[in-house]
Amino acid sequence: MLRRIPGLENAEFARLGGIHRNTFINSPKLLDPVMRLKSEPRLRFAGQITGVEGYVESGAMGILAGRFAAAERLGLPAAPPPPETAFGALLGHITGGAETETFQPMNVNFGLFPPIEDARIKGRKAARKQARGMAQCERALAACDAWLASAPLPSPRVAA
Ligand SMILES: Cc1cc2nc3c(=O)[nH]c(=O)nc-3n(C[C@H](O)[C@H](O)[C@H](O)COP(=O)(O)OP(=O)(O)OC[C@H]3O[C@@H](n4cnc5c(N)ncnc54)[C@H](O)[C@@H]3O)c2cc1C
Repeated sequence: MLRRIPGLENAEFARLGGIHRNTFINSPKLLDPVMRLKSEPRLRFAGQITGVEGYVESGAMGILAGRFAAAERLGLPAAPPPPETAFGALLGHITGGAETETFQPMNVNFGLFPPIEDARIKGRKAARKQARGMAQCERALAACDAWLASAPLPSPRVAA
């Protein structure tokens, strides 16, 4: 494929690899809880530059920045997502939870969620881990539904 690019017809490839440069700002220091630059609140950041990593994470931070901007424009409360949701856990991490000195791009992961205590989580270590993950997902889905139902902007879910 690369040799089909004009000028690269005779290129020799010593090694196939990738360039993975990640440009990001120190969000825990610079952004407020609704992704505005503290020093210049008319500017809002979205996506990977906020210090998240990955397609899903970047898209999620784009959706949130868009919702916050729309709410502000319409004079409605911003209504950030609760920390029990993946949206809220990641947003909370980049806008305050992370250490500013050591901040690095973050994928969404269970470690960002509030811990879960559930008496039903029993058994061997692997089984407990799986059960805890399921319980966190169920809690996240319920919290996300409640957030979307109470948020002032229309829900992004489309009725079937
Ligand atoms: C090699 C590689 C492999 C990856 N693999 C994966 C993977 O397997 N899975 C995964 O989930 N993620 C992967 N990622 C990460 C993923 O690609 C990014 O997290 C995601 O694309 C970021 O999306 P974004 O829209 O926030 O930023 P970007 O996709 O970087 O979009 C930013 C846009 O802004 C534009 N722009 C920049 N400066 C200006 C300016 N001054 N004016 C106007 N426009 C400007 C850029 O041209 C670009 O189009 C990979 C990244 C790389 C580099």
